[in-house]
Amino acid sequence: MDITFATYNDFLTGYQTYEMDKCNKCKGLREILDDDVTVRIEKRTLHFSNLFVLYCKKCGDKFLPQYSKQMIDGIYKEMVKQGCFIGEYTPKNFQKKFEYCQTADYKYDHKDYYNIPGLSYDEEHSIEGFLTPVYFDRKALIYFISVPDYDVDIFSETYGHIGKKDPTGIYVYDWDVPFGFNSNGKLVFWLGDLNYMDEQSQAILKGFNLDSDHLIIDSEFYQAQMNCIFSNPIKEKQILMNKDGFISNVKNKYRIDLTHLDEECSAHAKNIKRPLVFTEQSVSGVINAFDKVLVEGFSIKQLRILYETLYPENERDAKYKDWQSIRLIKELLLKFCEDIEDTIDVETLISPLYILHDYRIYLDHLLSMDKQESTKEHIVTTLGVQSFDEQETIYLEEMDRLNKLFQYLVLLSK
Ligand SMILES: [Zn+2]
Repeated sequence: MDITFATYNDFLTGYQTYEMDKCNKCKGLREILDDDVTVRIEKRTLHFSNLFVLYCKKCGDKFLPQYSKQMIDGIYKEMVKQGCFIGEYTPKNFQKKFEYCQTADYKYDHKDYYNIPGLSYDEEHSIEGFLTPVYFDRKALIYFISVPDYDVDIFSETYGHIGKKDPTGIYVYDWDVPFGFNSNGKLVFWLGDLNYMDEQSQAILKGFNLDSDHLIIDSEFYQAQMNCIFSNPIKEKQILMNKDGFISNVKNKYRIDLTHLDEECSAHAKNIKRPLVFTEQSVSGVINAFDKVLVEGFSIKQLRILYETLYPENERDAKYKDWQSIRLIKELLLKFCEDIEDTIDVETLISPLYILHDYRIYLDHLLSMDKQESTKEHIVTTLGVQSFDEQETIYLEEMDRLNKLFQYLVLLSK
């Protein structure tokens, strides 16, 4: 970036304009970029080999963010004092640490906090640095999903929240904090939110901590947090959003389109709402729709192609050509989990899809009396409930498991 100010006063005028997250010209979203910058003010030239600039992702226009302007101002005044006309600056690797999470000592870039629009203008928190983005490998969430002490909700692969259940049972959560994903697929928390977590949870995350890539503005997380538009969709909608997220990850990564009967699926998806009362009859509508969307709504042919993509010929099962969607999804999961140290119980993870199918066939009264009883028994044991009369418990447990399964699929398929 090259920028010239005829006078120091011109620079000061620019300094006083706070650059926002959206481009003035085209309204495109801006992100932070580490750039090579030459600034000319009156007769003096300042060259920076790395300096943060805000660039518009749509039209490419570049602007100086606040902290960079502050640095330029400081250096310019020093040059005037010393009578210098040309200056070369390479930033030192100084990393300021804020008074949050000092034990966990996460990697983050304090310059993000000062440069990304809005983050340092925070009236709610008295200690500086609360809204500093801290980046992690998305796989960190897999641990939290698999441990029952935590509740994790991922909404359409763009943001979510994680809470640790209160062991005393007085409150729902001991702590509960939001997270997001940036355009590189990294998991992002605010430093101040991480500070609410207990030390053990902080330590687990520490193992997944990544260097900042400075990207966050173009994310639903940032947009929602800055504009206070967070809302939690119901679990049923979340499952559908994560199914779409999984399909789009596969499309982007492998160029394989898993959609099947897309229009019919959307029509059924509209009928998916949380029932008000839980009887076999009221539950059957949602179960029916879910079975169509989550089991029949995948192209078996394309799932098979994905299986062939992930498994070399000598690793393929002799019977894989006869497999239906659930079995194929299970094998894909096994492959996705291969490089994860914590072994995930894929058999349990995939179980809600089988239940969905059984439940639907039972509810549709397609079975003999004997078969009905054994299907009910199977559902009850798999979900670990007391009896088939507990429709509410069965329903909620089934939704929790489906939610977990699709959160895994969306996290692992990127
Ligand atoms: Zn623009």
